[in-house]
Amino acid sequence: MKKVLSFDIGGTKIAYSVIDEQGVFIKDVVKVSTPDNAEGIKNLFIKVIKENYNDIDGVAFSTAGAVNNEGTRITSFTGNLPEGYNQTDFSSLTDKPVLVENDANSAAWAEYTCGAAQGSKNVIVLAIGTGVGSGIIINGSLLKGKSGAAGEMHFPIDSGHKRQCKGCGQYDCFESFASGTGLMVSAQKVMGANATTYDVISGCQKADAVALQVFADWQNYLIKGMIMLGNVFDPEKIVLSGSMAQFIEYEKVEKAVNSSILTQPLKICPAKFENNAGMLGAAMLLIGKL
Ligand SMILES: [Zn+2]
Repeated sequence: MKKVLSFDIGGTKIAYSVIDEQGVFIKDVVKVSTPDNAEGIKNLFIKVIKENYNDIDGVAFSTAGAVNNEGTRITSFTGNLPEGYNQTDFSSLTDKPVLVENDANSAAWAEYTCGAAQGSKNVIVLAIGTGVGSGIIINGSLLKGKSGAAGEMHFPIDSGHKRQCKGCGQYDCFESFASGTGLMVSAQKVMGANATTYDVISGCQKADAVALQVFADWQNYLIKGMIMLGNVFDPEKIVLSGSMAQFIEYEKVEKAVNSSILTQPLKICPAKFENNAGMLGAAMLLIGKL
């Protein structure tokens, strides 16, 4: 049975474990604080690889940033990770097979191989949190594009220069309305300057009319985006993950999307995995290539 060491690299924590070809975590997940410099991160990788070297067939990394089509290098900015981290030459860390993949793509692959989208060949996973991340699987392959950056959820969803997107600079972009941050910005316009997503959710639970409207508008932006994705990609399933996914009215959203798309009906459901999805997906991607 093939086994790989898999890392999930975040701005505050790096997690790792050893995962087998059936997607089973055969070692407890270890979490450590992310070192504050790129050299420290590299040294951590080398130390952990050395500790596990005799038990593994390869090393996988789930990371922020776009990753090249060879799965060896990061090709973009990596947010709150230390300067220089995105220059890491992952394949130089060990003589075993190595694979690096973007964290949203990795999480999507976890849902596709072991989670909520098992058995479907065409799947879109949207991670709705601070932003909207995505992983798109078409005909059983991860959609990477020419530079590994495919699946950026930045496209116009409204008009009238209502809101400038912090991610892409364009106005009225899907991410700037449909993310958790988008919900918060919408809430602050009508519920007060300090309103949070929590205020919207708790307001909805108390049947507050303003909160219910803010939530309904946010969900409608999500629906609009998913109609576009349904028409363009014709997926069997759209899987929703991230901190906001638990609040979505799945039945209502699925019905609304299916009443507007030109393609055959699709399913919309919550993700199976939250934590460790990136680690699992990156491991499964590497195991598929061993
Ligand atoms: Zn944008």
